[in-house]
Amino acid sequence: MIKQTTINKCTACTSCVIDCPVTAATREFKGPKLLGPGLERFRLFEQDVEASIDYCTNCKNCDITCPSDVGVSTLNMLAKNEFYKRKGHRLRDWILSHGELFARLSSPVAAIANWGMAFPLTRMVLSALGIADRPLPAYHKTDFYQQFHALRQQPYEQKVVFYPGCYIGFNAPQVGMDLVHLLQANGYEVIVPDVVCCGTPVVSNGYMDEAREKAQHNIRALAVWAQKGYPILTCCTSCGLMLKQEYLELYDIEGSQQVAEQHYDAGEFLVELKDKGQLKTDFKAIEGSYLYHAPCHLRAQGIGLPGLELLQNIDGMKIAEIDAGCCGIAGSYGFKKEKYDISLAIGKNLFQAIKACPGATVVTECGTCQLQIGHVTKAATIHPISLLYAAWESNKQASSEAE
Ligand code: SF4
Ligand code: SF4
Repeated sequence: MIKQTTINKCTACTSCVIDCPVTAATREFKGPKLLGPGLERFRLFEQDVEASIDYCTNCKNCDITCPSDVGVSTLNMLAKNEFYKRKGHRLRDWILSHGELFARLSSPVAAIANWGMAFPLTRMVLSALGIADRPLPAYHKTDFYQQFHALRQQPYEQKVVFYPGCYIGFNAPQVGMDLVHLLQANGYEVIVPDVVCCGTPVVSNGYMDEAREKAQHNIRALAVWAQKGYPILTCCTSCGLMLKQEYLELYDIEGSQQVAEQHYDAGEFLVELKDKGQLKTDFKAIEGSYLYHAPCHLRAQGIGLPGLELLQNIDGMKIAEIDAGCCGIAGSYGFKKEKYDISLAIGKNLFQAIKACPGATVVTECGTCQLQIGHVTKAATIHPISLLYAAWESNKQASSEAE
């Protein structure tokens, strides 16, 4: 069952229109106020669906700014689901929203798959299907799950559960391993349950029924640990938003409240340890200058910017927040041919700010933000957890050299 959000709290203040990055970037999109609470009234009676809903990225900036807690993005995703039920999906949208399937198939033959994705004939086929001409995320031969299960952890009494998600699972396994090492260094044993994709890509592409199946699987796998009181950590901000908020908004699944209550962004968990005086803070600043970009789905969690806070606490670390808005990629959105230019227009201010600091490395939690930033600005990118772990390792190395 999909929950219905309320539309009656909308006071038509227009804040969501002002802060919607897609409304600012294209006239194809008619804006959150009209398409969300405005047309929902109409849809409730007429069962009509406005085609421009397809341009909503589900970035959540409307929800962040809305003073009345309307839940505009969820209204939009429900409307998109209806839209696609009537219109039917393109093969391209199915491919882009099932990255987990392709990742599981491709990882064992990562080198061939990565070469094949860049092969001119493959690019021609992808282009004909409506996929933009931009690099696709590369796979790793040894995915996170293999690396994690090969690791001999110290068996500590304190335990946390880690939900890696597809991107860290298959495209950026090192981020997950860096978190595991940091947690081990702080006396935590890490549990990784049998989970599947959180469902963000299928929700954004109008496959709500499939998203519910994924939610049911993940809640079943995580609720058993939540009931024991174990913290549940994520490093990907979209996966985190799903566990913390979206499963609750979209579905009535037993256990989802407990999972949401036990969920922490990895940075949020480490900040909490630091505030309690329980985080080992022997970090050594890593050379270079760093710019921090906050992903929209982190800001939507309402937990501040914990990754930035941790890094700014390291003596001598040169890191500053960019605060220039959405990067525009929105998961699969920026990979769609007809949305590619819009995604670049959305991220224009961010790209300008990064280009104004040549040589700086961009720090951000979101893997697809990293892809967009690297693609447009050519800047190097890193996850804050990996930079933090590098700072930990660097201090350890300096101490052992001094002995
Ligand atoms: S989710 Fe993002 S793109 Fe969609 S209406 Fe809200 S602010 Fe605009
Ligand atoms: S910000 Fe909220 S209250 Fe204001 S117009 Fe948008 S949905 Fe309505």
